[in-house]
Amino acid sequence: MVVPMPDESQNAAPRAPGSVGVVRMFGVPVRFHFTFWLAVVWLIYMGASGSQSLAGTALYVTGLFLSVLLHEGGHALAARHYGIGTIEIVMLPLGGLARLARQPKPAEEFWVALSGPLVNAVLGAALLGGVYATGGSVALSHWQQAADANIVPRLAVANLTLALFNLIPAFPMDGGRVVRSLLAARRPVDVATRMTSRIGTAIAALMALYGLLSANFLLVFFAFFVYVGALQETMATSQQALMSGATVLEAMITDYRTLNHGDTLREAAALLLATSQQDFPVLSGEQVTGLLSRSALLAAMAEEGPDAFVAGAMERNFARVTPGMDLSEAAPVMAAAGNCALVFHEERLAGMLTAENLSEFLILRKIRAERAGPPASNQSNNGESQDG
Ligand SMILES: [Zn+2]
Repeated sequence: MVVPMPDESQNAAPRAPGSVGVVRMFGVPVRFHFTFWLAVVWLIYMGASGSQSLAGTALYVTGLFLSVLLHEGGHALAARHYGIGTIEIVMLPLGGLARLARQPKPAEEFWVALSGPLVNAVLGAALLGGVYATGGSVALSHWQQAADANIVPRLAVANLTLALFNLIPAFPMDGGRVVRSLLAARRPVDVATRMTSRIGTAIAALMALYGLLSANFLLVFFAFFVYVGALQETMATSQQALMSGATVLEAMITDYRTLNHGDTLREAAALLLATSQQDFPVLSGEQVTGLLSRSALLAAMAEEGPDAFVAGAMERNFARVTPGMDLSEAAPVMAAAGNCALVFHEERLAGMLTAENLSEFLILRKIRAERAGPPASNQSNNGESQDG
C-alpha cells in the first residue's frame, strides 16, 4: 500500500507512533509497529505444529513479511524515479505502508501504485518457476497441511495472492490508485477519485453482503475498511480541489490581536478569554518575534505562573507563508506547524492563516461554486454517471 502525505516538508512529518525498531531499505527508514511484532509471534506460535517445525514456521513468516517489505520497497523505488521521497515504510500486522513525501501526479501514480503488486507478481512467478524447475509441485492442499517441505510453494502462492489482493480496484488498495490514475488521464483528479470511490463502495457492499451471508466476518471487516478508504480519499481530493487556485490572501485572517514581547502570561490569558483567537503573534516593535499558541500558553501558565513573560513561552520557529502562495501549498505548511501560520508580506505581518479559518473559507468557496456553477457541475455529473 502507498500513502502520500500532504506534507512536503519531510522533516516536520511526524513518525508513525507506536513503532519499535528501525532498519533501512534503499535508504528509506523502515519502522515496525509494535502490533507487527505481536502478529509475528502469534503467527509463529499458531503455525508451528505437526509436520511444521518452529524454525520452519519462523522461516515462512519471515519470508511472508519480507515479501510485504519488498512490495513497499517497489513503491518507494518507483516514487524515487519521479523524484518523490519516501518518508518511511511502516510495517503493520495487515501489511505495510509506504509514506510518500508528496502526492504523485496521475501519470506518476500509475507506476508508483502498480510497482508494489508487480514486485509480488515477479517474486511469486520466480518462486513458482523455482518449484517446478526442481521437480516440485504447488497444490492448494499445502495450506491445510503446512509443512517444512512446502514452505517455498506456499510463499509462491502467498506472493501471487498478495499481488491480486492489492490490485482490487478500490481505495485504499493499490488497485484503486491504478484505476484513479487511468481515469484521471481524461478528466480532473477529483472526478476520477469520486468515480474510483464509487467502484470501491460497490465492491465493499458486495463483499459485506457475501460476508454476512456466508458468516465470514473477516470479509465484513475488510469491506468496512474499503468503504472507509473510499470516503477518506474522496474527502482528501475534494479538499485539494477546493483549495486549488485560491491564495493565502483570500483565506487569511486580517482582523486579529497581537501580544507584546514584554507582556505577561496573565495578559495573554486575558486576551485568550476575551477573543475567539487561539494563537497570538508576539511583537517587539514592528518585528514579529514569535507565536504564542493556546496550548503553549496554558502549559507555561501551569508551570511558571501568570507573572512569567510571553517571550519565554512563545514558539520562535513559527510557520511563515506569503499572501500570494497557493492555499494547497500553504495548508501543509500550516498543518505541519500546528494549526496556525503567520502571513508575511515583505517582512511585515499581513495576516494569519489558521485551520479553523481555512475550513470556513473552503465551506464558503464550496457554497459559492455550487450556486454559481450549475453548468460545470452538471457536466461532470453526466460524465460520472455514464462511467460509474
Ligand atoms: Zn502497495
